[in-house]
Amino acid sequence: MSAKLFESMRVVALPTRTKFRGVTSREVAIFKGEFGWGEFSPFLEYSPEESAQWLKSAIESATVKPPEKFRNSISVNATLPEVNSEDEIERILGRFPGCRTVKIKVGSDIDADIQRIKAVKKIDSDAKIRIDVNGSWNVAEALSNLKKVQDSIGALEYVEQPVASVGELRELKSALSGEVKITGDEVLRKSANPFEVDLHEAIDILMLKVSPLGGISNSLKLAAHHKLPVVVSSALESAVGISSGLKLAAALPELSFDCGLATGSLMSADIGTHEISNGEILVREIEPNFDGLDVSPERYKWWQDRVMKTWELIA
Ligand SMILES: [Mg+2]
Repeated sequence: MSAKLFESMRVVALPTRTKFRGVTSREVAIFKGEFGWGEFSPFLEYSPEESAQWLKSAIESATVKPPEKFRNSISVNATLPEVNSEDEIERILGRFPGCRTVKIKVGSDIDADIQRIKAVKKIDSDAKIRIDVNGSWNVAEALSNLKKVQDSIGALEYVEQPVASVGELRELKSALSGEVKITGDEVLRKSANPFEVDLHEAIDILMLKVSPLGGISNSLKLAAHHKLPVVVSSALESAVGISSGLKLAAALPELSFDCGLATGSLMSADIGTHEISNGEILVREIEPNFDGLDVSPERYKWWQDRVMKTWELIA
């Protein structure tokens, strides 16, 4: 990356409203290039190797002209973390005005999961429900838990990454014989080479996340390569990273699922806002407002080192 791009870096810490991935603050670095801002925000524990795709994505967003758009606004889903209080669930869903699809985090306790899903249905009985297991079930658990869920709340829109490996996904998909659609997330973004994973008969829908998949153009190539319907979601980025996700969603020739790009509602402060109106977000650029969000000089130095170590791998 150019010295100019490196020097444009700002690092902010965004407070989250509820614990997400065990944290209550999301640190992100952003760079400004000729085409606007790009975000580099691998989670703090990620190695330089795992962060490399995120840096490619940030550099692309800042320095490459975005692709042509097929649409100017994106239909989005609400995202519900693993919270169990009905009041809190109602408060969280209230931050996603007009969203008719709810993605619910599950996986640690099936009884609590079912109560959480029921609480959502109580608030909006017509809501489409998708659940995200983050690969924490085995095949037998997935079969029994999916049956329990559908017996108590009716059909799911889909289950995201119910089991971890491609082999398990394939075994589960065959056992389910179409009863529940499966979306693959980690199976793609955590693989050493997402073009080489054989997803045939393993999943029905592909999750695309701009940052971990190396940027907008790489994500478009992955969608074309795997020939599956796609959902675009965030990796809990700031409003700048969300803009890149929106541009990807806008550039897909076909998009028939609500996208997980409304996660800004999970932050209590951000460098910008993508308003949700009638369940949709406009595809647009953000001019960041850094007020009170910059990290300490020590954390800034830590991010400079991280960027340099990661850049060495892709230079
Ligand atoms: Mg997921």
